[in-house]
Amino acid sequence: MSIQTIGVIGAGQMGNGIAHVFAVAGFNVVMRDISEDFAATGVATISKNLQRGVDKGKMTPEEKDAVLARIRTTTSLEDFAEVDFAVEAATEKWEVKKQLFETLDRVCKPGVILASNTSSISITKLAAITKRPEAFIGMHFMNPVPVMQLIEVIRGLATSDATFDTVMALSQKLGKTPLACNDSPGFISNRVLLPMINEAIFALHEGVASVESIDGIMKLGMNHPMGPLTLADFIGLDTCLYILNVLHEGLGDPKYRPCPLLKKLVDAGWHGKKSGRGFYDYNGEKPVAAL
Ligand code: NAD
Repeated sequence: MSIQTIGVIGAGQMGNGIAHVFAVAGFNVVMRDISEDFAATGVATISKNLQRGVDKGKMTPEEKDAVLARIRTTTSLEDFAEVDFAVEAATEKWEVKKQLFETLDRVCKPGVILASNTSSISITKLAAITKRPEAFIGMHFMNPVPVMQLIEVIRGLATSDATFDTVMALSQKLGKTPLACNDSPGFISNRVLLPMINEAIFALHEGVASVESIDGIMKLGMNHPMGPLTLADFIGLDTCLYILNVLHEGLGDPKYRPCPLLKKLVDAGWHGKKSGRGFYDYNGEKPVAAL
């Protein structure tokens, strides 16, 4: 099947980024959220991000308009009857995704591949909701989607070679680098990243070093663009805790147990940058260590 029209579910942080990169690559996009307001906010973000490209001279205003014209929004999943490929980037909740994939499986044409951008839910388990597990796959984009090069492509137990090959080729058409991985808790990206962040939090918890020292040592010593505590604040401390719990429960190894300090911050509502406070306080002109 030739892929021309992409259905994107969710117009949030990831969904609008995914719609953005598909539209820039010349695909028509139908982007669905649960309200017109959410969908319109997603389009406004895409427009703002494209404008940055125009301001830097990487794109003409006409090209920007053409990209936006390729994106249509809807609140109805029935509109996905016309798509040739669907990517789901809705809220990270099993019940939300279960309902979505039941409907998508019914509405989408036979043979249409269903992909999920989930960070932590089993691709094999999501695929089993549908009657087309061979055409189900994980397509894990990184945030911010227009900027980040990687797509982690996750094969569920039943994913066919044809589905995998199509998604690898499609990812390349987006100008991204797809890298393959089998379905397992946290895939590769979060399985390797979160234990490092957790270890940094344990080091802080045990008084080994200050917030600034831990971040500075990893930044300058390992050439990381940001320290692990800053990165945790960016990801969201609630999200970090959630993923560590997925690793801990899914792999059953105590080495993945979340640090008690992380749990405490989440209990306090200190969820990182988005809540104004995490390991750093973001309420002033510049972030300052909050612990
Ligand atoms: P978000 O909260 O910014 O956006 C989620 C959007 O989904 C919201 O606009 C919400 O209204 C919408 N939504 C909820 N139910 C829906 C439904 N039934 N149909 C259509 N839309 C619905 O969240 P996000 O950060 O964009 O995350 C989306 C997905 O991407 C999650 O599965 C998350 O795990 C994954 N992900 C997130 C990141 C990240 O850094 N934020 C990175 C990789 C993957």
